[in-house]
Amino acid sequence: MDHITTHYLDGRFVESHGRRPMPIVSPVTGEPLGDGLLADLTDARAAVRAARAALPAWSATTVATRQRYLRQLADAVSRHRDELASTMSTEYGAIAAFSGFVVDAARDWYLQAAQLLDDFPFAERVNNAVVRRVPVGVAALITPWNGSAWFMAMKSAAALAAGCTVVMKPSENSILQSQAFARVVHDAGLPPGVVNILYGLGDDVGTSLATDPDVDKISFTGSTAVGKIIARNAAGTMKRVTLELGGKAPIVVLDDADLPRAVEFGLRVWLYNSGQACTSGTRLLVPAHRLAEVKELILAKIGAFKVGLPHDPSSRVGPMVTRAHYERVQAYIQRGLDEGATLLVGGQGKVPGLASGNYARPTVFVDVKPDMTIAQEEIFGPVLAVIPYAGDAEAVDIANGTDYGLVAYVAGPPSHASVVASQIRAGRVVINEPVSDQDAPFGGFKQSGIGREFGRFGIEEYLEYSAVFSA
Ligand code: NAD
Repeated sequence: MDHITTHYLDGRFVESHGRRPMPIVSPVTGEPLGDGLLADLTDARAAVRAARAALPAWSATTVATRQRYLRQLADAVSRHRDELASTMSTEYGAIAAFSGFVVDAARDWYLQAAQLLDDFPFAERVNNAVVRRVPVGVAALITPWNGSAWFMAMKSAAALAAGCTVVMKPSENSILQSQAFARVVHDAGLPPGVVNILYGLGDDVGTSLATDPDVDKISFTGSTAVGKIIARNAAGTMKRVTLELGGKAPIVVLDDADLPRAVEFGLRVWLYNSGQACTSGTRLLVPAHRLAEVKELILAKIGAFKVGLPHDPSSRVGPMVTRAHYERVQAYIQRGLDEGATLLVGGQGKVPGLASGNYARPTVFVDVKPDMTIAQEEIFGPVLAVIPYAGDAEAVDIANGTDYGLVAYVAGPPSHASVVASQIRAGRVVINEPVSDQDAPFGGFKQSGIGREFGRFGIEEYLEYSAVFSA
């Protein structure tokens, strides 16, 4: 049993001022794994003060110094690889392949940021002005539970490269993973106060960060509902915001697609991270005249996506993060039935043999109408809505017909697929093969967010322009 009583503030593990314990429960067995003391407003204030105090020196470091620290962070991630990955599978239930991928990506975010600094354009001349790009200041990084190390590394790499100091507030559902990550940061040997990490709830600690006048920037990944609250709170002090929010990605199967390949692709992008991904393809748009074939293919292929224990390398789908989230997914399945969609496979209830865990059954609805709740709202679990369409124009209308616009997928011959892809309003449109490119921009249209992350686009989010003129 782990009892986490400290936050990582000003280069040290400091006893929590907040005394409220948060239970940590295994998503696999339902048994307690331990607990963590949640930060309170005093802890939040201390974290911001430390980041503010460290800012002048950090923002004045040379590029070479920041590159050295970023590489130290990458090395520290590598040294802690097994601990980070295993904690992610234990606390969150991520299958082993996904945990390993996330931790390797975490290392790569730091290496990438270091490399980008080689020739990052921090200054340029425009007429009589020298236009400098200066760090925005103290950045608060608020992250979700569905890949904690990925978000913490991706955001902090960009912020630190830009010359910002940071306060990270990971999800209250990721206390063990965040504590493991804090050990990585500590091991990397950064100057005190440059990175601070505390575990707290959104309502109090999150709100405190979003309103604190000593925080200059909020970079948030999470739900659209919370993104709106943060944007409102941040407006009071006109903080810069980057918001990476929810998604309801379509997978458009074109009428001339190789159907077995398209369905395989669709199932992979749907069940990625057990359906708990903002990038999950959750609406399979199928030409009406090929629907029968697609249904058969789904039934034939879904068995290959084994639902199993996170540490079992043959598992491809793990549990939902918490019991409450499992119940939320169940409620959406009921909603699909209530609204008249037809269940093709799956349904409510536990997975046989895994009944003590938060395992939802991979569930596919067919005959789904585009305006049904299961076709509009982000479920964040393994529930797929198959929606028939007639003609490309209708497919594009349906694909664009939600409040979201984060990611979209198109399956079909590349020349045809690229024409359809160009009409879809989403930050990323992916044709035929899943990609995990870390260089191209990532972010949402519409209510999927504001701003872009990844690569140089991510670093730019932590910089302000300052034009200095001389005659
Ligand atoms: P969430 O919005 O409930 O919480 C995310 C974080 O925000 C947590 O750290 C939480 O404590 C904090 N928070 C909650 N209320 C807050 C408030 N009032 N002020 C400040 N912070 C607050 O999201 P979640 O359940 O942890 O994660 C799932 C959601 O994240 C899904 O909607 C998913 O689509 C989204 N997500 C988006 C991306 C992306 O890149 N666009 C990536 C992953 C997840």
